Amino acid sequence: MTQPNPPSAAIIGAGLSGLCCARSLQDAGFRVRLFDKSRGVGGRMATRRTDHGVFDHGAQYFTARDPRFRAMVAQWVAQGAAAPWTPALVAIDMASGAPVRSAVGEGTTRHVGVPTMNRIARLLAEGLDIRTGSTVVAARRGPASGGQLQWTVDAVDGEGAALAPEGGFDWLVAAMPSPQAATLLGDVPALQAGARSLPMVPCWAVLATFDAPLDAGFDAAFVNGSPLTWIARNGAKPGRDTARECWVLHAARDWSESMLEAPAEAVCARMLEAFRRITGAATAPAIARAHRWRYSGPGATTDLTCLFDAQGGAGACGDWLAGARVEGACLSGLELAGRILAAAR
Ligand SMILES: Cc1cc2nc3c(=O)[nH]c(=O)nc-3n(C[C@H](O)[C@H](O)[C@H](O)COP(=O)(O)OP(=O)(O)OC[C@H]3O[C@@H](n4cnc5c(N)ncnc54)[C@H](O)[C@@H]3O)c2cc1C
Repeated sequence: MTQPNPPSAAIIGAGLSGLCCARSLQDAGFRVRLFDKSRGVGGRMATRRTDHGVFDHGAQYFTARDPRFRAMVAQWVAQGAAAPWTPALVAIDMASGAPVRSAVGEGTTRHVGVPTMNRIARLLAEGLDIRTGSTVVAARRGPASGGQLQWTVDAVDGEGAALAPEGGFDWLVAAMPSPQAATLLGDVPALQAGARSLPMVPCWAVLATFDAPLDAGFDAAFVNGSPLTWIARNGAKPGRDTARECWVLHAARDWSESMLEAPAEAVCARMLEAFRRITGAATAPAIARAHRWRYSGPGATTDLTCLFDAQGGAGACGDWLAGARVEGACLSGLELAGRILAAAR
């Protein structure tokens, strides 16, 4: 649908929730502009390229239960942007101090982006108007020249320099972790309160490269009774570069909270020691770096799938609303787009 003056939306956050919301609105004829503080799109569906290898250091894989998300995944697979992942996957209990392995019940289909997790986000971003490197510091709603209320977005660049305000938006979407959304929703108090009521929790990650193949006896493991909760050989995923032995380690929620402000080097050392105990790895990695996800996932559950205020001309979406996963983020974005489209009719 092409209209002379289509309704418009500013979407803050080009993670999966923001991208799905944007695509849906744009497909319905909206003029949409996304803003993201990072250099690229995808948010926590992240891939880090380093001189010691490529790592998916945020989301590791995704599952699909809802028919709408299953259809999206089928399309990504058909486009060659995703593939099923069937790792040698185990559960490891460290409660006794020594690793006790057990099988992981099958029946779950896991997919990954190909050749990286971030590929999915880049696919969703095609054809969208996105301002990357643009940190939104305020969103203001006020009367436009025609008298109607519209949103103006204030942003700064990577160096903190103010960018020209961008205005004329009928709708504002905050598509980011709840604490970050709350800071931008001051003009819509009900939404701000909703975002504040749903906290997020951290996760420390370590990206480690070994000089030689590491024979752990598995590709990935869910871990209990350890500072770590997940470890995976990145190269075991389809389409990855296997020339280097790259592993991703994720710390448990409680441990990450207790180490939230600890120096990255100290965190890295503790997580590598836990890794050594789990795998029995005889050699230390050639290079390892720790990365802190301050807002890794939701710390509470809710029956809401998005936050929406038709009068206030705004909404919020993200995994903290519709479930702590890639699927939840996508569905939350679609749900919010549906609410905006219904209200704009
Ligand atoms: C360590 C880790 C492991 C995970 N593992 C899995 C897994 O195995 N399977 C799974 O399904 N899910 C997993 N997840 C969860 C999954 O990654 C998220 O649910 C999903 O990516 C969230 O998408 P989102 O759009 O809600 O938020 P985000 O991806 O966080 O996107 C928000 C975006 O907003 C931007 N932003 C924030 N503030 C501003 C601002 N002021 N101005 C401009 N831009 C801003 C950010 O840069 C970001 O790009 C994992 C997450 C982490 C961190």
